[in-house]
Amino acid sequence: MKYLLLFGLVAVIWWVWSKRKAAAEAPPPQRPASPDAEKMVNCAQCGVYLPEGDSISDGGLAFCCEAHRALGPSAGRR
Ligand SMILES: [Zn+2]
Repeated sequence: MKYLLLFGLVAVIWWVWSKRKAAAEAPPPQRPASPDAEKMVNCAQCGVYLPEGDSISDGGLAFCCEAHRALGPSAGRR
């Protein structure tokens, strides 16, 4: 009976150890923010969505083109 208990204890320790080892070998996949997922902004004049890099920013607002930047934010969007 004593040996059975000892065997059970060893089995539990081995099971926990093997589980920890497996977790260390295969860490959960962590998806870093993909570099091509650019932040999208919308034009303050016409409301069109475009990547932040393609937008023209002026006074904290984003515009889709130079013409809309010159017009400024539309009256209805604030
Ligand atoms: Zn626009």
